[in-house]
Amino acid sequence: MMAILEDNQSKMSEGEYLRGMNALGSLHKQKRTVLASRRPGDMLRCWMTLDEIEEEDEDLYEEIIEVADDIVVELCGDESTIYNNDHNLVHRGEEHEIFQLLVNYKPEEGNAGYETSPMVLHHAIQVIMSRLFDDTFHELEVVRPVSCQCGWRGAQGNWDRHISNARHQRWVNKQRQENFEGALAKAREIIIARREQGLVYINELHATPATKVATEEAVAAAEAAGDRVVFMNADGRLSWFA
Ligand SMILES: [Zn+2]
Repeated sequence: MMAILEDNQSKMSEGEYLRGMNALGSLHKQKRTVLASRRPGDMLRCWMTLDEIEEEDEDLYEEIIEVADDIVVELCGDESTIYNNDHNLVHRGEEHEIFQLLVNYKPEEGNAGYETSPMVLHHAIQVIMSRLFDDTFHELEVVRPVSCQCGWRGAQGNWDRHISNARHQRWVNKQRQENFEGALAKAREIIIARREQGLVYINELHATPATKVATEEAVAAAEAAGDRVVFMNADGRLSWFA
């Protein structure tokens, strides 16, 4: 078109020639915009989610799992396979390394992802990643055992059930009782500040169930002995027991 316009430039007015060149210019610009906007759109139109593929295209789904399995063998070794759900895809502790390899996986001549389409490769990598996630989640939530101070040991997932269990409850109550008895013995040792003729000086202790009992005991014992009770607080102030 450009060549024709130029050859015939002498036969046209300057205005006609310029209009021709402008039309050619805008045609070129339009073609560029159309192509630029169409290429990514074409790719997106035929892209399917893994769920859609599983429902609608069995062959394509199988292809994705095959590519995933090839990549697993490539990254994790011969004994690993995506088809086996009985044990973890990788050895414990290797999850992070394999995850990083997947994040950075690039189709290169000779590797498992090279001969396939971007969509299949994408889904194959997602399949492996989601399997790694499931394995790790299962490991943390179910497999990895936790232990309780009461002596119970079990799966993390059973913890909530355990703490409402009767055996655990009995342990908690026993523990509480032992703590109380320990605190009471301690309070009994320090409750009496001193004794004088007919007077018992009782320390005012920070109020807890144990110090309350120790105080009541000391007061009762003093009264039984016919002594008067004087309370003494931490900074030495005294108050008579009514
Ligand atoms: Zn327990």
